Amino acid sequence: MGQPYDRVFNFSAGPGVMPVEVLEQAREEILNWQGAGMSVMEMSHRGKAFMKIAEEAEAAFRQLAGVPDSYKVLFLQGGASLQFSMVPMNFLTAGGTADYAVTGEWGKKAVKPGKLGGKINVVYDAKETNYDRAPAYGDLHLTPGADYFHFTLNETIQGVDYMAEPDIKGATVVCDMSSNILSRPFDVSKYDLIYAGAQKNCGPAGATIVIIKGSMLERVPEGLPPMLDFKVQAENGWMLNTPPCWSVYMCGLVFKHWTKNGGLVEAAKRNEAKAKVMYDAIDGSGGFYEGHAVKPNRSRMNIPFRLSKEDLTDSFVAEAAKNGMVELKGHRSVGGCRASLYNAFPPEGATALAQFMSDFARRNG
Ligand code: PMP
Repeated sequence: MGQPYDRVFNFSAGPGVMPVEVLEQAREEILNWQGAGMSVMEMSHRGKAFMKIAEEAEAAFRQLAGVPDSYKVLFLQGGASLQFSMVPMNFLTAGGTADYAVTGEWGKKAVKPGKLGGKINVVYDAKETNYDRAPAYGDLHLTPGADYFHFTLNETIQGVDYMAEPDIKGATVVCDMSSNILSRPFDVSKYDLIYAGAQKNCGPAGATIVIIKGSMLERVPEGLPPMLDFKVQAENGWMLNTPPCWSVYMCGLVFKHWTKNGGLVEAAKRNEAKAKVMYDAIDGSGGFYEGHAVKPNRSRMNIPFRLSKEDLTDSFVAEAAKNGMVELKGHRSVGGCRASLYNAFPPEGATALAQFMSDFARRNG
């Protein structure tokens, strides 16, 4: 198979595969980071060395993603899941309404933030078609004067992607971009708040990246618990407490790595090509494999598929693993299989899986 360090093809939906070069640099620096005499894991987060790491990570992210100066970038904790609660705590007013579009499992979770003063209003729910599509933004009936509109750009479990930038005038746009952030260029100015867990396209689990328009901070009410208050977090340069230091350091290396490799334009081309190999394998199987999402919403990151002979799923997954292709079992909530092809996933892995799929179908068809 010839992967460096005998690495397998890791189709995990997250934590996901990391660029080998980044892991090599981390190995290089693990015992003594650039002459500091210690690893990044052992440093004071208030010390000079880590301050430099943190500043560089943030700057590298801003450069790679093209974040305008009017936006703050924060590396918080609690995962994207905490954002499901933190967003309404900060922006859903007492007696107000927040509109949500639900296109899959994570959107369903986002509409259950806990008991709050305002109302969560589901403006779109793809339940009827078993979460296989996303709406056109223009077709959404948003509530006039709503506090914000929330959507999940890419549903990791159903593999459903809007495949377009939101162009919604007059609404505050909040986006869960956990599973496709940095997979293609995106225009930050179309959003008021973006959040994403690091563990798919950015780095190891631990950090949750938040991009928030500066003017949003003026809307944060008084008296929130400081750790859950975007304004307090921003005012303290996301160093209110010990940040997820290792994750931030690794994310910084990943951001620089992608900038060096052509930025998001090239990332998008590579992702498009890898996904095409997979979708061609599904579409060309004569119905042996079936994809989940409708074609215009097919995710380039997460590709769920089913075997028409469902009882063969376990042996498909087991045989693939024996051949060095792991983590292909679908999420427990939908079953079947899922191949996640994040930025760092090697193209040869997509080709290898497509070949295996065709071979498996021939033997079991
Ligand atoms: N949103 C999306 C789209 C996700 O894919 C995930 C994680 N798979 C989450 C939210 C939850 O993220 P976390 O585990 O970081 O809380």
